[in-house]
Amino acid sequence: MKKIFLVSACLAGAKTRFDGENRLEPQLLQLVREGRAIPVCPEQLGGLTTPRPPAEITGGDGFDVLRGRAKVVTCDGRDVTAAYIRGAEEVLRLAQAWQAAGAVLKARSPACGSGEIYDGTFEGNLRPGFGVAAALLAQAGLPVFSEKSWKDKQG
Ligand code: SF4
Repeated sequence: MKKIFLVSACLAGAKTRFDGENRLEPQLLQLVREGRAIPVCPEQLGGLTTPRPPAEITGGDGFDVLRGRAKVVTCDGRDVTAAYIRGAEEVLRLAQAWQAAGAVLKARSPACGSGEIYDGTFEGNLRPGFGVAAALLAQAGLPVFSEKSWKDKQG
């Protein structure tokens, strides 16, 4: 049976980003075309609109959000933590329903980031950590790649 991966919808060409744009990675769109990846957007699945104000995790990373120790807040100060958790849970539910072998998720996003994310100051600073959906998938034992680490893995 061929392995199916989840892929961030914005990397597959969908205009799901907060600014209404995408971050197309042709290699990942190709995976979708071949039936080897399924696009998901945790922020939209959590009920957020597009476009929307940018958000960052404050007080920790996605694992801390899942433990109730950090929040996701928009640049205009709105707490959107519940939507991020809802979106992450839906992505995990889909990963399990589709028996996904892993996920390739957009780097640095407060939902999708893996390894490093923005630090909550909205000043472009990075900190080590995962976004909320990436953290929930990793916690469930699924391998999570960024678009870059996926490319490196392919060699
Ligand atoms: Fe892309 Fe993930 Fe942001 Fe959705 S939540 S726009 S898939 S980075």
